[in-house]
Amino acid sequence: MSEQYKITLLPGDGIGPEIMAVAVKVLEVIGAKFDLSFGFTSAPIGGAAIDATGTPLPEETLNICQHSDAVLLAAIGGYKWDGLPRAQRPETGLLSLRAGLDLFANLRPATIFPQLIDSSSLKPEVVRGVDIMVVRELTGGIYFGQPKGIFETETGEKRGVNTMAYRESEIDRIAQVAFDIARKRGKKLCSVDKANVLDVSQLWRDRVSRMAAHYPDVELSHLYVDNAAMQLVRAPKQFDTIVTGNLFGDILSDEAAMLTGSIGMLPSASLGSHGPGVFEPVHGSAPDIAGQDQANPLAQVLSAAMMLKYGLNQMAAAQAIEKSVLEVLDRGYRTGDIMSPGMTRVGCTEMGEALVKVLKS
Ligand code: NAD
Repeated sequence: MSEQYKITLLPGDGIGPEIMAVAVKVLEVIGAKFDLSFGFTSAPIGGAAIDATGTPLPEETLNICQHSDAVLLAAIGGYKWDGLPRAQRPETGLLSLRAGLDLFANLRPATIFPQLIDSSSLKPEVVRGVDIMVVRELTGGIYFGQPKGIFETETGEKRGVNTMAYRESEIDRIAQVAFDIARKRGKKLCSVDKANVLDVSQLWRDRVSRMAAHYPDVELSHLYVDNAAMQLVRAPKQFDTIVTGNLFGDILSDEAAMLTGSIGMLPSASLGSHGPGVFEPVHGSAPDIAGQDQANPLAQVLSAAMMLKYGLNQMAAAQAIEKSVLEVLDRGYRTGDIMSPGMTRVGCTEMGEALVKVLKS
């Protein structure tokens, strides 16, 4: 009997519905090929949900997500909702979804596609073969630590305060996720902190080192964040898996992603300790090209591959999708954002058809 999975689809706004349609087609073909049965349920989030219900994450959407095996999200946001108060903005829907599913680990791969090597702003010899996974702690650290706020001092001068704090248990759980991922990849984990200055980082380093005892097959190293930022552009191939806190991860994951030079190709995953993960492209809703069949659907398709790999443990099916993406690039198909001379320019739908053709061949 085939494996059955309940998948929640959150197409969101802008190019979201267009790229989601491609990912669903790809999953249907993959399902038939690998004997997996996907039950898809679509729900509104972001601007689409604001228009339909007045709130960016309706309770029903969260409920459907909580009762599924995985959540595939496209993108949210757009000019139309930019003027709303923060609590009603599309982005708040995304943050509430992460909180509602207790997603504390954010996985951001930065993989260089050999066919797109010229899109990188770094020299080809520096980036060729780069394949990095940044594991960022998502629900703790300085973005959430208390006290926070802008306070008035005794002299009447204002003082802005944020607190970088991590509990042992918060560090342990993200370290465990990162070691597990490193074990499935190149068995090398680099933990990034600022332990030479910050006490919170010293605790981070101690706990990550302690966790290493459970993973004798994974080689652990530590870097200070300033050095890590430098090494990422100097010699990125030295990295396999990186684990770091919320603030450092926010910055380093964008830096690592930009080594690849193409935002339309970058997937991500957010995971909790149990329950469904959320899998989504790194890019936004691209309102400037929405509804024009110009969007690159490959980040969305690669997010579906991450869903199979990290959410449903269907490695072979995930790899088949990744291979099909490489194959369409080899065949010269390019959407506008990754177009280069001599290649065949296609729209979102046509790129999807090319993928399906490769997968069925
Ligand atoms: P964006 O990523 O949507 O777009 C930046 C540029 O990249 C645009 O020129 C766009 O056309 C292009 N682009 C992005 N994805 C593409 C794709 N798949 N194919 C081809 N081109 C693509 O970022 P932005 O313009 O800063 O933000 C637009 C909206 O998206 C805003 O409302 C923002 O808040 C929202 N946003 C959402 C998310 C998310 O859903 N996770 C992330 C970032 C931004």
